[in-house]
Amino acid sequence: MASYTYETHNYDVVVVGAGGAGLRATLGMAEQGLRTACVSKVFPTRSHTVAAQGGIAASLSNMGPDNWQWHLYDTVKGSDWLGDTDAQEYLVRHAPAAVYELEHYGVPFSRTEEGKIYQRPFGGHTTEFGEGPPVQRTCAAADRTGHAILHTLYGQSLKNNAEFYIEYFAIDLIMSDDGVCQGVLCWKLDDGTFHLFSAKMVVLATGGYGRAYFSATSAHTCTGDGGGMVARAGLALQDMEFVQFHPTGIYGSGCLITEGARGEGGYLTNSEGERFMERYAPHYKDLASRDVVSRCMTIEIREGRGVGEHKDHIFLNLSHLPPEALAERLPGISESARIFAGVDVTKEPIPVLPTVHYNMGGIPTNYWGEVINPTADNPDALVPGLMAVGEAGCASVHGANRLGSNSLIDLVVFGRAAAIRAGEVIDRASANPTPNAAQIDKAFARFDALRYANGAVPTADLRLEMQKTMQSDAAVFRTDKVLAEGVEKMTAVAAKLDDLKVSDRSLVWNSDLMETLELTNLMPNALTTIVGAEARKESRGAHATEDHPDRDDVNWRKHTISHVDGNKVTLTYRPVHIDPLTDEAHGGIELKRIAPKARVY
Ligand SMILES: Cc1cc2nc3c(=O)[nH]c(=O)nc-3n(C[C@H](O)[C@H](O)[C@H](O)COP(=O)(O)OP(=O)(O)OC[C@H]3O[C@@H](n4cnc5c(N)ncnc54)[C@H](O)[C@@H]3O)c2cc1C
Repeated sequence: MASYTYETHNYDVVVVGAGGAGLRATLGMAEQGLRTACVSKVFPTRSHTVAAQGGIAASLSNMGPDNWQWHLYDTVKGSDWLGDTDAQEYLVRHAPAAVYELEHYGVPFSRTEEGKIYQRPFGGHTTEFGEGPPVQRTCAAADRTGHAILHTLYGQSLKNNAEFYIEYFAIDLIMSDDGVCQGVLCWKLDDGTFHLFSAKMVVLATGGYGRAYFSATSAHTCTGDGGGMVARAGLALQDMEFVQFHPTGIYGSGCLITEGARGEGGYLTNSEGERFMERYAPHYKDLASRDVVSRCMTIEIREGRGVGEHKDHIFLNLSHLPPEALAERLPGISESARIFAGVDVTKEPIPVLPTVHYNMGGIPTNYWGEVINPTADNPDALVPGLMAVGEAGCASVHGANRLGSNSLIDLVVFGRAAAIRAGEVIDRASANPTPNAAQIDKAFARFDALRYANGAVPTADLRLEMQKTMQSDAAVFRTDKVLAEGVEKMTAVAAKLDDLKVSDRSLVWNSDLMETLELTNLMPNALTTIVGAEARKESRGAHATEDHPDRDDVNWRKHTISHVDGNKVTLTYRPVHIDPLTDEAHGGIELKRIAPKARVY
């Protein structure tokens, strides 16, 4: 093995990731005077959050009546009763304050005539506990909301003296022998040096793992690095089988057309020109929740009513909307449709297809962002020194299916919560622990083995094989047979990690090696997704199996916990937190309202 040296940096907190979640956590930590480093493999404002279009959910009631109880009901129902109700209550109650805070930090929200924050309807967001009309709850900065939030939070973090380490790639967590997270080992991509960030708290904000699939709306950087690091540290991943397909990825490119397009009045049609969602979801139609719309589109295509030469996609119609409204409210997607589908949205429909969009599962946490690694006698046992927020984490507010615009609010509410908690638990006066030398050696040994990997399979080939397997065997509709075959195939694919071929041995801007590290992170995410899916014998939210079409609350209202060892996944289960957080919630919202029932829209 080559010999590696590294520089040590001591901080109170190191946040890995500079998307919305990482930046909100960084800002909150720095504001309290904690010595805070934020490490990111890409420039902060290039994180995937920048691509978020539609908006951020909060019951501001700017455009009609709304309240947090309705938002709670919609989130619980949207999650198909798999979310932790305490975390869901925390989310919706803190949402309005978190949005006003963003406004005061400088996010340029779109405005109503009276100058209030503009809010649009989004799928699954309703009034009167699902009995009233759709609510306008999603706060938007045109169709570039994530862009606006990310730039604002980056500026605020700099103002508060957070220190950024940009284009540093986190390789592995450093854990003490008794299970405390002590820091993270990083590789500086532009000069090939190594850096150990020693910290009293490590916050993983590394985003999702959409790139485990062939067609995804997410950036190429969404490779589940946090989940990979956690799995290698012997810690748990949760509810990985729940992968959201967004109904409207542009056919061919996968580029996203926001749900805001349907929120503003767009609708889907099949080859007969029929607005088919009226048949499946008579009440909320095109604004039913995402899993429902994606499944209905897939049924239409499978029953021969798809559009196009191969009858393999669906049309999204916007041309009936006034051109001024499209230009003002949806300028970004008008441009995407022109570039990626050659379509003028004022005249023609956009060809769309359900596309992988969001990972409900991730690193299990409580609603303070503290990481959980369940033990036989404590399903909520905490991992000292480690937090996870944003799409990398699983608090779990989205359960089996996330509502549109509930992720951006999750980033800021739980990024903020993690900072508040860290302020309470970190002892500022204490010295940093001495990092575990054996673990550092182990991380370097793994890095070195990949750097000099000289097997038969190039990284790009194995990645493609993984992506195609996941796309065909762990998609919108699943069956016992396909999943069982998929588990076998993915186990074989994962085994090929031992036979990788890396051609570039250098340490400076070695994208071949970086993509190899990313592939070793994608793999445990993909494997736990398909193994968890194969085991879950029911249909719930995004996990729909034809052999078990109904939700089974008696046997399956529980979180899937997976531990990974090489290409072997061990599953256990953990109870869902059913009780809301506060007595006030018990009083303010009749519990029977959020008790499980059939999920119809
Ligand atoms: C196209 C698109 C549109 C969306 N629109 C909406 C919307 O309108 N409303 C909504 O609520 N949600 C939306 N979502 C979902 C939402 O945007 C994402 O879930 C959210 O932005 C994820 O934020 P994050 O902070 O967790 O991670 P990301 O924004 O993905 O950031 C991850 C960060 O981690 C860093 N990182 C990762 N691995 C490493 C490593 N190994 N070393 C160092 N750094 C690392 C990256 O550099 C990056 O800074 C959308 C998603 C997509 C893909």
